[in-house]
Amino acid sequence: MNLVLCLTEQCNLRCSYCYYKETQACRHAVMDNATLEQAIRTGLERTISFKQKHLIVSFFGGEPLLRKDAIMGGVGFAKALVAEAMVQHRIGTDFRLSFVINTNGTLFDDAFLDFCEREKFTIFLSLDGPGYHHDIARRTTDGRGSFKDIEWNIPRLVKLGATALSTITRAHVGTLAESIRWLHEQGFKSIATAVDFDGKWTGDEFENLADQYREMAQYWLECRKAGEKFFLGTIQDKIKLLVLEKRFRQYSCHVYDGTIGVATNGNIFPCSRFITSKESAPYLQGNVFTGFDEGACKKLRDFLESDKQECEGCAIRYRCCMHECACTSFYTTGTLEGVSAEVCTHERMLAEICDKLISN
Ligand code: SF4
Ligand code: SF4
Ligand code: SF4
Repeated sequence: MNLVLCLTEQCNLRCSYCYYKETQACRHAVMDNATLEQAIRTGLERTISFKQKHLIVSFFGGEPLLRKDAIMGGVGFAKALVAEAMVQHRIGTDFRLSFVINTNGTLFDDAFLDFCEREKFTIFLSLDGPGYHHDIARRTTDGRGSFKDIEWNIPRLVKLGATALSTITRAHVGTLAESIRWLHEQGFKSIATAVDFDGKWTGDEFENLADQYREMAQYWLECRKAGEKFFLGTIQDKIKLLVLEKRFRQYSCHVYDGTIGVATNGNIFPCSRFITSKESAPYLQGNVFTGFDEGACKKLRDFLESDKQECEGCAIRYRCCMHECACTSFYTTGTLEGVSAEVCTHERMLAEICDKLISN
């Protein structure tokens, strides 16, 4: 079970593609210690109830490094709780506990990096590419590019095995492939990209993006043929699902029995991207103090078992994030069932590139 904890809604950046860009300046909520501890208890109990043997505690935000003390406290609490459950024979000695952080990378210091190394953290670093590419969207509250604040950390983060997450807006397309190559040359062995679907992508922009994807795919293939360790999620995820004949929802999406997202006020959501402390939020699954709303969980399970009507007969539907990712549906159409024409176009284009790559 992956327990994703939104430690704070605050962030020291104002990225142009942030989900919260309209409201970031007035997002002040932080998770208090009682909620943090109760969330970890809930995560462990849910893991045990699903008879799973691995609890991942993921620290998320806003920017979680604004709460370094809470991260350190949460790690200590989770370790003590798991040790106690082992002593009580509620879990076996083969039970694993691990930690993840999703960060913009601007607030690390040596002591915290040492802590991450000691606790074997998995680090997901939002880094779009070199300064001229990264700073297009990732800006500080006073409008500066944030690359300089991350740059000095890059060698250490590479050593710690961080995954670089690069977001693609319409303004990034022209320098995308060279930025992915740059990230790989810095030593990142795992890179993933995500498109900022803003409803404004034009046909020409998608064609340019397709050219960049082809270049990235070719580069990735050459690296792999040369025996290099290099995971490029953008390309590899699509190929993997085809080769393994797996469905995205079963393989890459862990909603329901694989993830719990917890907001600062303890409200529970299906995954990290739904999390909000707003009381009227859709897809709320309960609260760590009052338990799960099984009716809401069932609704989500039913959705995960059904196909979208609009996608009937589409050959790539089980590899398409518009069809398979509840969150992409929610963010681009406002519902779980909706289909965004923009994402549909993107998914067809990317699947074609990936399929051609393996057929060659
Ligand atoms: S770092 Fe993340 S949370 Fe902060 S502004 Fe950027 S996208 Fe939003
Ligand atoms: S709904 Fe989407 S974002 Fe959430 S876990 Fe599934 S694939 Fe990931
Ligand atoms: S490519 Fe389009 S039609 Fe096919 S599954 Fe995705 S959203 Fe549906």
